[in-house]
Amino acid sequence: MTDSLDTAVAAAGLPAHWSWRVQVRPRRRTVGLDVLPDGSILIAVPPGARPADVAAVVRSRRLWLATALKRRADLSAEHPAKELVDGEGFEYLGRRYQLKLVDDLNALVKLHGGALVVRRPGTDQEGLAAIAQWYGSRGRRWLSGRAGAWAGRIGAGVPSVRIDDLGTRWGLRNRDGSVTFHWAAIQLPADLLDLVVVHELVHLLVSHHNDEFRRRLLLALPDAAELEARLAQVGRHVWLGAARGEWGHAAVAPRCGEFAVSGQHGQSARHRRATCG
Ligand SMILES: [Zn+2]
Repeated sequence: MTDSLDTAVAAAGLPAHWSWRVQVRPRRRTVGLDVLPDGSILIAVPPGARPADVAAVVRSRRLWLATALKRRADLSAEHPAKELVDGEGFEYLGRRYQLKLVDDLNALVKLHGGALVVRRPGTDQEGLAAIAQWYGSRGRRWLSGRAGAWAGRIGAGVPSVRIDDLGTRWGLRNRDGSVTFHWAAIQLPADLLDLVVVHELVHLLVSHHNDEFRRRLLLALPDAAELEARLAQVGRHVWLGAARGEWGHAAVAPRCGEFAVSGQHGQSARHRRATCG
């Protein structure tokens, strides 16, 4: 019975990467579709349902399914919480390093031998704060260097660079002509950091995300759209300082679509423009 139902649903033309299964439910009278927490689709059918009818229902609700799957994927956007234990992974410029706690180290935090070496702190919070601090100072150096390198090409002045906890944004242009970047940004791969830098540098010349902004951005980074899509994905999984088990992690609502730390797909361009600073 389910074999012929499976065959009929398989022929209904759902995208190949969607996973689904058919289940016959003795009490059901109609076909029911549900997106489960793991992102798979459950097709619940009444006994004796005709395969062609089930396939027709699935086909007719394809758009609804796409929306439900997207909503589920957005919910699973998750900034990880970290634990201060040997072997915990920490990203730096897009590469993953394992944490190694040591007792004797002349610095609080440093990269050494492919590991992120941290002097054993009094408390886990202290240790994670030291790592966040280290990210910030590494980030300031790296991002200042990149801002200096890009400024000339874009025709902007070389801005002074600050680091802060920007909550839901990667970068921010300040009224005094300086730019601020999120301390967590240095975890991103270098090409995505360039996108963040160039975006803010272009803002020094053009305030809003209008056509002129886009033109200048694409002139500097012809593949900006692809980088933005990757940033929206990768950015959702960047560590923002939460400790596992103790603090839980803070819910953050993106304010700026393109640079939202928790990338939100599907926002309209107009909405993005209206909400980006
Ligand atoms: Zn912007």
